[in-house]
Amino acid sequence: MVQLKRILVIYTGGTFGMLKNEKGVLVPQKNIEQVIRKLPQLHDIEYWTNHLSRTDMKEYLIIPDGKDTELKVLYKIFEYDELKDSSDFTIDDWLKMGRDIKKYYHDYDGFVVLHGTDTTAYGASVLSFILESIGKNVILTGAQVPIFQPRSDGNNNFLCAVLIAATQYIPEVTVFFGSKLFRGNRVKKISNTRIYAFDSPNFPPLLEAKTTLDIDPKMLIHTPSSVPDECRLHDRLSRKVYVLKVVPTITPEVIRAVFSEMEGVVLETYGNGNMPIKRKEVYKEIERAVKNNVLVVNVTQCINGTVLGKAIYETGLLLVECGVVPSFDMTSEAAFAKLSYVLSKTELSYTEKVELMKTNIRGELHNPLQ
Ligand code: ASP
Repeated sequence: MVQLKRILVIYTGGTFGMLKNEKGVLVPQKNIEQVIRKLPQLHDIEYWTNHLSRTDMKEYLIIPDGKDTELKVLYKIFEYDELKDSSDFTIDDWLKMGRDIKKYYHDYDGFVVLHGTDTTAYGASVLSFILESIGKNVILTGAQVPIFQPRSDGNNNFLCAVLIAATQYIPEVTVFFGSKLFRGNRVKKISNTRIYAFDSPNFPPLLEAKTTLDIDPKMLIHTPSSVPDECRLHDRLSRKVYVLKVVPTITPEVIRAVFSEMEGVVLETYGNGNMPIKRKEVYKEIERAVKNNVLVVNVTQCINGTVLGKAIYETGLLLVECGVVPSFDMTSEAAFAKLSYVLSKTELSYTEKVELMKTNIRGELHNPLQ
């Protein structure tokens, strides 16, 4: 008896399914399923015609047999009514994705989200926090070159993401791109031209697509028996969160304008967590905001590295002393998503929220003191 696996592919928009409009710019296209059905690498039309087309499984597409698995991998495409360039996504779009994963959780063996690359790092981070418990794969992927073009990277990304979702046990939110599967809350978009659009500068990839697609069990956060097969969704996020970059022209007015509107701010600082200290009025604004219970997290502007709870330079000391929270090795995108999640936990006190920000909860950071 052949074993079947069913994957739900949620198509939200992004370059993967884009064509140029009359102004010559790329916009998402509807009915992506019609395009995918014609791609022999992604759909076995012969098997479908002979075995599925006259059954109640006719809405499924099927991955052609290959050496990756003995399983029959079926997938259904769930296309959103409003397809978006991911630059248009807000917190609500990711909450919707979380709700849909929860809604269909028991109908499928895993989930693939076709997501525009511009905000994949935010989306994967947000989903990793709001999906508080998940016993199945949730893999975000997309493309740098649309699927309509011969050199599209969408084919391989799609195929690998669906196969990994069906054959590997990785119960967390991940991103597949190029040839690697990354922990979702560790990725950064590092190129808008290269096929390898993402990297995970502070954490190794979970899997590299070679002639086989196998996860190294050491990379998993959860062992198979430790995760219940359930989806627990935290269905709320704070919208009063922002990322502010320290640059040489920063003024107290800019800081005040941002901080007075927000409950939480990711402060992108120089190097090891440094900022100008000779202009005291700049620092004073941050100190005042922290006293007013704005949760401020210090993230480095460097691609790789950490901001620890202990300052290395005099230019980093004041931020530690006034209660700005170190991000350790979190990306700015993960810190943003985590702040939004933590601040929505209104049952927690300010001190508890600060502690949670410093604690590794989804593999997003390494705190050497814990
Ligand atoms: N602007 C596109 C998006 O994020 C870029 C992409 O998908 O590669 O939707």
